[in-house]
Amino acid sequence: MDKFLGYRCSLCGAEYSPTEVAYTCPKDGGNLDVLLDYPSLKKKFQAEDITSRGDFSLWRYLPLLPVNELAGGSTPLHTAGGTPVFKLPTLAKQLNLQNLWLKDESRNPTASFKDRASAIVVARAHEIGAEVVVTASTGNAGAALAGMSAAVGQKAVIFAPKSAPPAKVAQLLIFGAKVILVDGTYDDAFDLTIKCADEFGWYCRNTGYNPFTAEGKKTAAFEIWEWWQDAHAKWHEEFGEGLEHPPLTIFVSVGDGNIISGIHKGFKDLVELGWMANTPRIIGVQAEGSAAISNAFHANTEAIKPVTAKTIADSISVDLPRDGARAVRAVKETGGTYVNVSDEEILSAIAELGRVGIFAEPAGAAAYAGVARAISTGVIGSENPILVLNTGSGLKDIRAAMQAVAEAPIIEPTLDAVKKLL
Ligand SMILES: *Cc1c(COP(=O)(O)O)cnc(C)c1O
Ligand SMILES: [Zn+2]
Repeated sequence: MDKFLGYRCSLCGAEYSPTEVAYTCPKDGGNLDVLLDYPSLKKKFQAEDITSRGDFSLWRYLPLLPVNELAGGSTPLHTAGGTPVFKLPTLAKQLNLQNLWLKDESRNPTASFKDRASAIVVARAHEIGAEVVVTASTGNAGAALAGMSAAVGQKAVIFAPKSAPPAKVAQLLIFGAKVILVDGTYDDAFDLTIKCADEFGWYCRNTGYNPFTAEGKKTAAFEIWEWWQDAHAKWHEEFGEGLEHPPLTIFVSVGDGNIISGIHKGFKDLVELGWMANTPRIIGVQAEGSAAISNAFHANTEAIKPVTAKTIADSISVDLPRDGARAVRAVKETGGTYVNVSDEEILSAIAELGRVGIFAEPAGAAAYAGVARAISTGVIGSENPILVLNTGSGLKDIRAAMQAVAEAPIIEPTLDAVKKLL
């Protein structure tokens, strides 16, 4: 793999060869950025070499990924990514926004954004000959690892908190992973997973620990870049060629901070290649009850103080975020910010998205709830073009969904009963 040069620590800047380390910086535990050989990539490829490819999955960006393509054709692993972007005119009107879109990551093979990371980690596991891949997960990372692994016959072990929503646990079991539920929090499962990986020689996928997860997640930025070239051109056709407008602003929900860091990395790769002039503005959305990264950002520090997380949005319920420093930078370096949303706002967001045909799990709806918050606090105005990421499907947590709506009436099966009801 000649394009994959090694790693650079996001804290101390130390560089490592691909075989020297596997996870975090041995000096300070910092998250490692994957280093690609940009000068030779730049010589070898033009943007059109990528954008003209026929593959619409995340493997479209293989030349910019630090792994080789897995053989085996069209398994679910081979079809991760390539998610649609919808225009939301009804909600735009409600919010008084000129342009509002949503990228629907629930369309991934296991119904969350995490498939992007797990597909790349499984490809990496294959390259290094790992017999077992293990991860801690609030549910989605595990479902994604279990699903991507099952697709190519890789063994997977998943540690999740026993409080994980049943639909997510069902996914883990159905995909045939070894599932171990921990009587503790996600953070407890996280630490235990690292111990087990060390003890048993398993390859650890943990979010914000394994440097390859962000490399998978960056593919969403590549897709946004391609989509925006198009959407942006159309916008100018409609409203005038020379018109000035604010940059695209992206709303993404944040737990460990790895999705937002990965998306930021994707944009930085594109800038480095000279394929993108200005990165979009990234706004992180956290639940009020799980806002460690937001707290740090607003205190103007990268030092993350843990919280005792409590939110209905289980996928972003994290005491100690594992990719906090890079997540703070992702908004700082793109002119964004962090906003917090309450569980009530998340539940209304689920209902509002549902009314335009999008079923989001709480963490996915949180990003949309963040838009309303950002408007009411003056972070964005009606002229800002907005893209919201729905990171996971509502089918993953129907208990939360049912709290967002009124119960359906139960009636006798007679016309009279219907008339009475109506
Ligand atoms: C994991 C996840 C997030 C948050 O991603 P982090 O990398 O932990 O910040 C958001 N939404 C959903 C649905 C997720 O599964
Ligand atoms: Zn370091």
